[in-house]
Formats: sequence, structure tokens, C-alpha cells
Amino acid sequence: MSHLLSVVIPCYNEESGIEALLARLDALVSSLSDQLKIEVIIVDDHSTDRTFPLLRQFVRDRNYLKVLRLSRNSGSHIAIIAGMSHCQGEAAVFLAADLQDPPELITELVDQWKKGFDVVWAVRAKREGVSSRSLLFSKLYYWLINKYTDVYFPPSGADFALLDRKVVDGLVQSAGSKPSLGALIMWLGFHQTEIPYVKEARKFGKSKWTLRKKLNAFADAFVGFSYFPMRFMIGLGFFAALAGFLYALVIILLRLTIGHQIQGWSSLMIVVLILGGLQMLMLGVLGEYLWRNLEESRRRPLFLIEATALSEK
Ligand code: UDP
Ligand code: MG
Repeated sequence: MSHLLSVVIPCYNEESGIEALLARLDALVSSLSDQLKIEVIIVDDHSTDRTFPLLRQFVRDRNYLKVLRLSRNSGSHIAIIAGMSHCQGEAAVFLAADLQDPPELITELVDQWKKGFDVVWAVRAKREGVSSRSLLFSKLYYWLINKYTDVYFPPSGADFALLDRKVVDGLVQSAGSKPSLGALIMWLGFHQTEIPYVKEARKFGKSKWTLRKKLNAFADAFVGFSYFPMRFMIGLGFFAALAGFLYALVIILLRLTIGHQIQGWSSLMIVVLILGGLQMLMLGVLGEYLWRNLEESRRRPLFLIEATALSEK
């Protein structure tokens, strides 16, 4: 009996590429039909362009396809988790809608899964059409994640993977309110492996990962998996206080021994400004943890489905 494989694709304002994506998926589904049964779940992350009407039209004569539309734009990590929580497969793959991640690579991911791996990452061996600013940002991101959090991540990045059913279930269970998808999958454990691939340049539309979204994703990954910023604050506070004590000691000794007159206000301003700034910065870091805690305790649903579209076949 052939296995059922789910393919989950988040999609946000991708109207210019939907047709090309579906052509590639049609070809893939028919080429694999003798070894695998495939269901594709496209999750429309509340697009504001014609993505959803187009999907609704394309889904009609494709019985392998299911389309979900989220009630608000939630970011690709949540969109993928929404798709995962609706999929039926014995394993599930997630990949981007813009064809930067070649769907044909799914066969290689499946081969590794059949060898017994629970998570198979497609790791970017090369990235085409990326600005040097983005590359630098990405390098820094993965370096910081690997140095200061509890999880290891392939330094060149990965956003395309296959998960076994038990990992899919674990992921949906442990998503929380601000999931950082890659870090969470790494943290789940199981038997993981990597295969390299070339992440092609975007052929249509433009990247939906704005700098703001990237910074938010970074804060989610960091706060979700690292205590380092809080420990760092403690260390910094300790050394600042120590420096203050030593400075006071020096002044007192100078006064007692050589009767040195202290002209204080300029040095005081420096100390006040530096310490005041540091304290505000530390409060900000604490706030990052605290408001995520608040989000978690509100227990709002991670996503809501606004509409579903299925094949009419
Ligand atoms: N995406 C999404 N919601 C968002 C932003 C992006 O579902 O708020 C989808 C997007 O449609 C694409 C995938 O996530 O399928 C990866 O996004 P993108 O290609 O823009 O990111 P990049 O390749 O530049 O990292
Ligand atoms: Mg992309």
C-alpha cells in the first residue's frame, strides 16, 4: 500500500506565482502516483490580493488539493502549523509557495524518511538572487541562534523539511502562542538529518519577509529558546554595581589620604546616563519575555480558519 504524504504550503499575496506552482505540483503528484498518495494543503495567510479567489478556482478540478484561508495574516510559521494541524499524512513536508524550494526535491526527502529519519531538512547549500545585506543578516541570525540558544540550526538556514507523523503531532501540540518553527522542530528532537539543495531566486512577486517580520522572528526564536539575554543582564548589572562601589572606594580613599576635592557633577552625569540607559535596555529585554508570557496566558487560538475550499471532483 502506498504511503500518504501531506505537503503544506503557506501562501501570502502570491497571485503572480500560483499558476506556476500548481503546474509543478500537478507534475509532481502524477509522477509519484505509483509510489505515494499526496495531499497538498495550501494555507492562504489572509492574502489581500487575488491569491484566494485564484486558489478557489484551481482547487475545483484537483482532488489532491485542499485550501485553507486564515482569518488574519499570521506569518508563514503559524500558517504552516495550521496546515500541519489539518493534514492526514504519515509524513508531511512544508515548503514555500514561490518555487524557491523545488517541489521535486520532496522525493529525496521521502527517501531519507523511508530510511528511518523522522525529520529531514533541506538545507540551503547555496542561495541565488539574495542581496548581500540579507545574506549578512541571515548569517548573523543563525550564528546568534547557534551560539546563545538551546537549539542547533544549520548555519546556512533551512525552511523546507519533511516531518514524520509523530513530529507533526509534537509540533502542533507544542506550538505555543509565538512559535518559531525551525527552532521548535530542532528542539523536539527525534532522529533528524539534512540534505543540501540550491535555494533558487524568486521568479515572481517579491519576498514577504520584511525586515520587521525578520526581527520579530528573531526575537521569537531567541526569547523562546534562550535565557542568555536575562543572564547577560544580571552579569552586566553586577559589574556596573561593582564598578560603582570601586569608584566610591577610590574617591573616599583619595579624600582621606591626600584630601582630594571631588568635582562631581560631570562624572555623575556620565554614570547616571550610562546606568539609566542600561536599565531601560534591560527593562526592554525583560519586557520581551514578559509580554510573550502574557500572550501565552491569554490562551488565544493560534489561528482561525476563515474559509476552506475543496475539490469538486
Ligand atoms: N508567507 C506567509 N505569510 C507571511 C509571509 C510569507 O505565508 O506573512 C509565505 C510566502 O507566501 C512564501 C513563504 O511564506 O510561500 C516564504 O516567504 P518568502 O518567500 O516571502 O520569504 P523568503 O523566501 O524571502 O525568505
Ligand atoms: Mg521565498
